Amino acid sequence: MIRRNLRTIRFQKIAMSIYPVICPTCFEEFMVPLPAPDETPCEVDYDCEVCCRPMIVVFDEEDGEVYASARGIHD
Ligand SMILES: [Zn+2]
Repeated sequence: MIRRNLRTIRFQKIAMSIYPVICPTCFEEFMVPLPAPDETPCEVDYDCEVCCRPMIVVFDEEDGEVYASARGIHD
């Protein structure tokens, strides 16, 4: 039981290390690295990897899983 829990946590860490967001300017999807769950919620200034326009990426956590969403800097 304990071993299974450890394996699950390790798998989630790998799976959650990056997360796709949609650029609010060009609407292309790209991956952003996720912070640790205890560092959320937070907002990070980010430049789109496709069009290089600035945006805000919002990181939040739900049920132990970190997720990201992007919004324009003027929203
Ligand atoms: Zn873009």
